[in-house]
Amino acid sequence: MTIVKYLMASIYFHIPYCRQACHYCDFHFSTNTSTQARVVAAMRKELELRRAYIGKDTIQTIYFGGGTPSVLHQEELSSLLEDCFRYFSVSPGAEITLEANPDDVSLPVLRDWKALGVNRISLGVQTFQSQPLRQMNRIHTGDSARRAIQEVQEILPNITVDLMYGLVGDTLDRLKEDTEALIQLNIPHLSAYCLTIEEKTAFGQWHKKGKLETPEEDISVAQFDYLMDVLESQGYLHYEISNFGKPGYLSQHNRNYWQGGNYLGIGPGAHSYNQQSRQYNVENNVSYFTCIEKSETFYEIEYLDEKIKLNEYLLTGIRTMEGIDLEYIRATYPQYWGELSAPLPILLTNGLVLQKESRILLTRKGKHLSDRITRDLFIS
Ligand code: SF4
Repeated sequence: MTIVKYLMASIYFHIPYCRQACHYCDFHFSTNTSTQARVVAAMRKELELRRAYIGKDTIQTIYFGGGTPSVLHQEELSSLLEDCFRYFSVSPGAEITLEANPDDVSLPVLRDWKALGVNRISLGVQTFQSQPLRQMNRIHTGDSARRAIQEVQEILPNITVDLMYGLVGDTLDRLKEDTEALIQLNIPHLSAYCLTIEEKTAFGQWHKKGKLETPEEDISVAQFDYLMDVLESQGYLHYEISNFGKPGYLSQHNRNYWQGGNYLGIGPGAHSYNQQSRQYNVENNVSYFTCIEKSETFYEIEYLDEKIKLNEYLLTGIRTMEGIDLEYIRATYPQYWGELSAPLPILLTNGLVLQKESRILLTRKGKHLSDRITRDLFIS
């Protein structure tokens, strides 16, 4: 029997600052960096306070996400990394990723990041084309993104690029041009996200007032099909719905999340998970550092029962190339086996999933409907 179990442990830092607000973004960030030093000091304290949360696991990945981690000053990044090595056993080959804005990248800065131990860069490109970049209020241009990619490749070749599709007024040709450019640039890993209009964003407000059209669904469906075709033909593994990587370049950090590994999330709005509970840090920069400075509670805890754990396994597993393992589910959650297996025949008959030995995987058709399939599989 294949036993699925958590394999690694990770640390995630949420850096809650951006130079300007993208019109579609509903992540937690602020453009007011006046509190940055206090937030970083509080993050260092949080790292020390919460080091027991993931036990004595060796840390295999460290990830700086946000927000825009490339706004961190060199000393701030260095102190956070030093603390990781001080309080945890970090594997010598740990994957250390930093998300960066193209405009923050230069050869000297990249050399500094590398000297601190960063070995993977995630670059927020989205598109090389000026009109959608301006429409989304991205701070960079297509030219600055190309320059940044080339500089990153010179110093830190383990690079991943974020690409968006389903943009307002988008076309298949726009996506083809961008994807071909990324293939030409020999990018080993891509994350591709479809634009969603979130209520509390500028796009959401304009959409509510009728000033912004919702992106055409048939175009985004054709775009996702195109991405799967072209990237698979170029040797990328479609290893999770939104992620494509060449062998040897799959994100170890994200795979740890999807495989149910432990992680400690540090910073305002960060989440943590250790098999027993999830913890959610307060999503407000001032409340975060004030609580930590005063030794007050700054997070909420949700204790996980068996049903929640199974639903989380279904939610993340079905999106990956490994899918979900029926033998593991039957052995670990026998009480839910009847309910879980009920929708499978119809999903199989409709060609939305396929079975490979004991595993259930999404088909091409199913990849377009993963949210619906997850809802069908969920234990109520
Ligand atoms: S840079 Fe990233 S986190 Fe910041 S506003 Fe834009 S999309 Fe959101």
